[in-house]
Amino acid sequence: MSTSLWFDPTEILIGGTWQPCASGQTIALTNPSDGSELAHIARGTSDDIDAAVTAAQAALDGEWGRMTALERGRLLTEIGRRVLDYVDTLAEIEACDVGKPLGQARADAVALARYMEFYGGAADKVHGATIPYLDGYTVYTLREPHGVTGHIVPWNYPMQIIGRSVGAALTMGNACVLKPAEEACLTALAFARICQEVGLPDGALNVVTGLGVEAGAALSGHAGIHHISFTGSVGTGALVQQAAGANVVPVTLELGGKSPQLVFDDADIDAALPFLVNAGIQNAGQTCSASSRILVQRGVYDAVRDRMAEAYRALTVGPAMDNLRVGPLISNRQRDIVQGFLDKGADLTIAATGQLQNASENGAYILPTLFADVPPDHTLARDEIFGPVQVLIPFDTEEEAVQIANSTDYGLVAAVWTANGARQMRLAKALRAGQVFINNYGAGGGVELPFGGTGKSGHGREKGFEALYGFSTLKTVAAHHG
Ligand code: NAD
Repeated sequence: MSTSLWFDPTEILIGGTWQPCASGQTIALTNPSDGSELAHIARGTSDDIDAAVTAAQAALDGEWGRMTALERGRLLTEIGRRVLDYVDTLAEIEACDVGKPLGQARADAVALARYMEFYGGAADKVHGATIPYLDGYTVYTLREPHGVTGHIVPWNYPMQIIGRSVGAALTMGNACVLKPAEEACLTALAFARICQEVGLPDGALNVVTGLGVEAGAALSGHAGIHHISFTGSVGTGALVQQAAGANVVPVTLELGGKSPQLVFDDADIDAALPFLVNAGIQNAGQTCSASSRILVQRGVYDAVRDRMAEAYRALTVGPAMDNLRVGPLISNRQRDIVQGFLDKGADLTIAATGQLQNASENGAYILPTLFADVPPDHTLARDEIFGPVQVLIPFDTEEEAVQIANSTDYGLVAAVWTANGARQMRLAKALRAGQVFINNYGAGGGVELPFGGTGKSGHGREKGFEALYGFSTLKTVAAHHG
């Protein structure tokens, strides 16, 4: 790739040393914008995971384990500052690796820095408490790290997901083993280089690239791991939970979604429109919290459909470095999956599609597609597509809207567009989702906001202070002194 890659991506990081993986084998990365070969990464396996877990444990027993919360916080804050120095480079690497339009990739790099800043500042503010108890006792809790934490990360938002999980784990004093996705992991390697530059002690962060079924499976079933954070698909999440369960290791799962936005007759359509569309096409729809179902009350259905269709026709799709509204999908494989869904919708009405611009025929492109009048039980309305595809579903009553919204296996995000305050409060309670947005979608993605799912969207929370509680454990101390 271009000169922006300033390190050798075939090396993995174990105990502060960059080295080839044990097998010596590599995996080729492809630039999804044009199908060209981008780089090679190491194909780490269970031997490398063993070494990384040992190195992480050594860090806990050494310098890293002795650092105070204040010292860890200062380090995290400094890492955040240094990430900002690299923002343009990280954005370029991510755009080439993931196919994410450059501006969106840049926003992810800025978010990574913000996670470090937020968690760095919080490091010495999360602690135990004293508990009033029986006469003659003093009781208090100590908040302690789990120990070695495993982080299995997908390809769609590597920097954001590393920020929210690795950032929180390091803040609480855990030592991390990170297994990024084999499709896109260059910014994970770059981040580890930046952490090292700033002086993160050896072994506090170890990175092993490799295939999910090899390095990922070895990490999730490793007896030396004390907590696992997994972000990815439902099927893989279930496997990870099963493997960790054999060692009685707690798991945080951030999985998929089929997140609805509910638009009522009294909604401010002008305000809603950009959110309705953007939540479906951001990162080419490859977002766990993508809003792929738009439920619209009959009174405004035609207007919303026509205005969304107009917005879709203006969507430009092309190379990530051209920074258009939509880039390619991560791979031809993902494009084929999404095309399969489009084929299943052949009998449905297409309200509009976007348009290709300067798109190489070797790139993994698919046209953003808006379907109208989709029955709520259709596969396009129930299953996660993970591409730039949205369905419009009309409804008559509030009860019907809630019933449709809650009718999938997922429960990640929901949004309500209405001026009726009582309805806002009713729906915030009635919708099954980890987060409900009222008259917005995503609230700008702030790092302060706890994030996670219900149902098949997963369990546990990351982001915000909740992540710091999740990446730590409580020890109760009860002293009897008479
Ligand atoms: P995936 O499950 O195939 O891969 C995710 C990670 O798991 C990768 O690092 C992969 O190497 C690893 N992996 C694969 N097989 C494994 C195994 N047997 N054991 C251990 N690790 C293994 O998912 P994906 O296709 O990369 O990502 C897309 C999915 O992730 C979508 O369903 C999306 O909704 C979900 N996702 C969810 C969130 C969230 O926060 N809820 C965020 C991003 C993506």
